[in-house]
Amino acid sequence: MPNVGEIERLVSYFSRFPGMGSRSALRVVLHLLKRKNTVLRTVISSLSDLYNNCKVCEICGNIDVITPCAICSNKHRDSSTLCVVEGIADLWTIERAGFYNGKYHVLGNKLSAVEGITPDDINISGLYNRLAQGDIKEVIMALSADLDGQTTLFFIKDKIENLGVKITTLSQGIPIGSDLEYLDNGTILAAFSQRRGI
Ligand SMILES: [Zn+2]
Repeated sequence: MPNVGEIERLVSYFSRFPGMGSRSALRVVLHLLKRKNTVLRTVISSLSDLYNNCKVCEICGNIDVITPCAICSNKHRDSSTLCVVEGIADLWTIERAGFYNGKYHVLGNKLSAVEGITPDDINISGLYNRLAQGDIKEVIMALSADLDGQTTLFFIKDKIENLGVKITTLSQGIPIGSDLEYLDNGTILAAFSQRRGI
């Protein structure tokens, strides 16, 4: 068994993961250690595969084993509709719901005065360049319904509205203050189908 220092180091590391406190981190670490030859071995192998094979898509910012990613290179998807999301978890939430057939653009973050996240920290120039090519007719801004998400939405709108692309945003169904990634499929579908121009 590893010594206590090694366990504490791992717990401290895990406790910095999103949504994980020190108590949950300790539970996860002990769970892994108790199942060293089954779960831990599989997790190590999966992490190794992830490290060696995952790539950030050069077009949309999604993560896949190829770049451009499977979504960007899929010719059956609608290239005239672009859904802008804050993070990859949002993209995967929309994909899981299974109704959207356009392409995506991952910003990687949202503007936040509190956390010091500025326009330089989000992939707006990549979005602008894609739109400037002229193939995209509608941009769906699928950002969270909190202050930072809405600030980001209107900042981007100001930047891209001179390009003449239709800009819509998700409508009813998104509770105020909520992150997209936690919504169920039905709520996501309702929000998309009732989107409105801004
Ligand atoms: Zn992509």
